[in-house]
Amino acid sequence: MYPEEAMMQGAVFGVPEEFDSHGGQSFSDAQLRQLLEKAEYEDALFRAADRKRREIYGDKVYIRGLIEFTNYCKNNCYYCGIRRDNKNAVRYRLTKQEILACCAEGYQLGFRTFVLQGGEDPYYTDALLCDIVSDIRTRYPDCAITLSVGEKPKESYRAYFEAGANRYLLRHETANSAHYGKLHPESMCLQRRKQCLFDLKDIGYQVGSGFMVGSPYQTMDNIVEDIRFLQTLQPDMIGIGPYITHKETPFSSFENGSLALTLRLIAVLRLMFPYALIPATTALGTIHPQGRELGLKAGANVVMPNLSPVGVRELYALYENKICTGEEAAQCRGCLERRVRSAGYRIVTAIGDAATRVSRPAQPS
Ligand code: SAH
Repeated sequence: MYPEEAMMQGAVFGVPEEFDSHGGQSFSDAQLRQLLEKAEYEDALFRAADRKRREIYGDKVYIRGLIEFTNYCKNNCYYCGIRRDNKNAVRYRLTKQEILACCAEGYQLGFRTFVLQGGEDPYYTDALLCDIVSDIRTRYPDCAITLSVGEKPKESYRAYFEAGANRYLLRHETANSAHYGKLHPESMCLQRRKQCLFDLKDIGYQVGSGFMVGSPYQTMDNIVEDIRFLQTLQPDMIGIGPYITHKETPFSSFENGSLALTLRLIAVLRLMFPYALIPATTALGTIHPQGRELGLKAGANVVMPNLSPVGVRELYALYENKICTGEEAAQCRGCLERRVRSAGYRIVTAIGDAATRVSRPAQPS
C-alpha cells in the first residue's frame, strides 16, 4: 500500500479494511461521506480504485456500441430533454433495417455488444422489439444484446430475453422515494422501478443500474441510500454520470452535477463493487473535455461510443451539448482508442461480461 493510501485508511477509517461476501469493501455511512465530500482523500482514493480495477480487469476497457433508436417517449421525467412535453424536440425512430445497419458497421469496428436505448416508445411493441432482437441475435451469435427501454411488465422482459437479449440497463435514478417524487411526475414511482430491476435479475439478465450525480434536490444522504440500494441489488453494471441541464425541461434553472463528486463516486463504487462494469459515461465527457479519461483513471472500465446514424445523434438530446454528435462511428472509435490509451488503458473487443461470471475467485468455504 502506498503511504497516501495508508493515510487514507488510517485517517478515514481508523479500522482495518473489511469486505462483504461479494468481495466489496465495506464502508460506514460516515466513511462514505468523508470520501465523497473531502478533496484531501481524492488522490489516495483514485489510486486505491485503480489498483483494485487492475487487479480484476487489468488495463482492459470494454466497448459497447450505443444505438439510440427512438427519442419518442411517453414519460415526462423533469430532467430529461426527450420528455413527452418537450414540444420542441424533433422526434425520430429508426427502422429495423437502420438498426441492423448500425450493428453491421459496429461489428466491423470490433464491437461485440450492442446497446439499444430509447425513450419509452409504444410504437415498438413487444412483437416488433422481439423481431429486431432476434434478427440481431441470429446475425451476431457472438455478441451481447443490451436493451435500455425503460419500465415494462415482466412478461415483456421475458419475451425480449427469449428473443436473445441478455443485458438490460435501467438506472434506478434515486433510491429515495421522496427524491424520486421530485424528479418524476406522479404517474411514476420508485417501487415499480425497483421491481423492474428485480424482475430483470430474476429472468436472468445481466442488469445495470445507477443514477445521476447532482440531480436537482439530491443530498449526500440520497447518494448514500443509492449506494446501499446498489448493495442490495448487486448489479453487474453500474452507470453514473453527472446531471446536465436541458433548457426545455422544468429543471432548466438547475446547475449541472459536479465532475469531482462523479469521479469520487466512481472510485468508491469500484472499491465496493470490484467486479462491476462501470462506464466512463458520455455525460462525464460532456462536462469536461477529459471527463471520460478521468473516469477511467478513477476506476471505470467501460466506454459506450455512439453507433447511431449521425443524422439523428443531435436529436437524442437527454441533455445539452452532448459530445460526439457530428462524428461517424469509425471516427469515434479511433478517437476513443487514442483517449483510452492516453489514460493508460487499452480497448479490447471482447464481449466483456462482468468478471464475476467468468473468473470469480472461489470463496473460502
Ligand atoms: N428510457 C430509458 C432510457 C433513459 S435515458 C429508461 O428509462 O431507462 C438513459 C439515462 O440518461 C437515464 O436513465 C438518466 O439517468 C440519464 N439522463 C436523462 N436525462 C439526463 C440529464 N439531463 N442529464 C444527465 N443524464 C440524464
